[in-house]
Amino acid sequence: MQSAFENATFEVAQNWNESSSSSYLHEKWNAFLDVVGDNPDYVYVWGLTIWTYGWFWLIGAIFLLMDLTGWPAFMRKYKNQPGTNEPPEWAKLKRLVTRVALNQFVYGVPFAYLTYYVRKMTLEMPDIRQLPTIDVFLRDFAICVVTWEMGFYYSHRFLHAGFWYKYIHKVHHEWSSPVAWSVMYCHPLEFILSDQIPIFIGPAICKSHPVTIAVWFLYVVVDTVVDHSGYHVPFFLYSRQHDYHHEKFNENFGVFGWCDSLHGTNKKYLQKIRSDKKSVKFTQEPDSKEQKDQ
Ligand SMILES: [Zn+2]
Ligand SMILES: [Zn+2]
Repeated sequence: MQSAFENATFEVAQNWNESSSSSYLHEKWNAFLDVVGDNPDYVYVWGLTIWTYGWFWLIGAIFLLMDLTGWPAFMRKYKNQPGTNEPPEWAKLKRLVTRVALNQFVYGVPFAYLTYYVRKMTLEMPDIRQLPTIDVFLRDFAICVVTWEMGFYYSHRFLHAGFWYKYIHKVHHEWSSPVAWSVMYCHPLEFILSDQIPIFIGPAICKSHPVTIAVWFLYVVVDTVVDHSGYHVPFFLYSRQHDYHHEKFNENFGVFGWCDSLHGTNKKYLQKIRSDKKSVKFTQEPDSKEQKDQ
């Protein structure tokens, strides 16, 4: 039997799907495909790659410019770890850009090809010209969020185990006070295992339309770039949690904190938040220095 909530949701979705906004978006999407072409191989692989990495560099550049120029001055008070990366060292930044570009083009693009062809061979693909209905879009998005949290938490926690930390994950932690582009500054194995696979699980399970995947990847880019930006902007996505992971190393392994709460890997962080509610300043106690120096 359907609940009142399910009935209401169904009704909202039905109204949206039959609304003029829905047909307007449908027309615009098809007009766009008429211009760029509707070959799914290009849309899924190159379209989504350019879209995702393009936003990554662009949004990250806004934060990096603030780090490099110190402008606008009022943003200084929103630094998670004040006094760090103001400005970042050029040599370190150059290493970061080179490694991120290598990860994206040497490993990211072939991985996108591989996942697309595996999906094409094993699963039914949606009609590219037919936009998903709002209820399907919301369902896919919710599944993407949950599978990302789980996939990232467990792969990330695994990467903190002795050998894996020392030879793989330590690269990402070179930035104990991260900057926006350091999201993808990591060993290639981590890039595939912890950055790519967890965000591809949801779209694979749901057989998502490329527009759903584009919105999903944009959300992931904004969330992770802000997480690593070093700034805690009020009323914007919450960056303190992952920044704290970079600073302390042994807590906050997940994206949203759900798995951390489940496994008790955010106790010190929650205590800190409770005792530090009125300030954005964090103290610099090196409570997990051993792992940092391994
Ligand atoms: Zn990180
Ligand atoms: Zn880590």
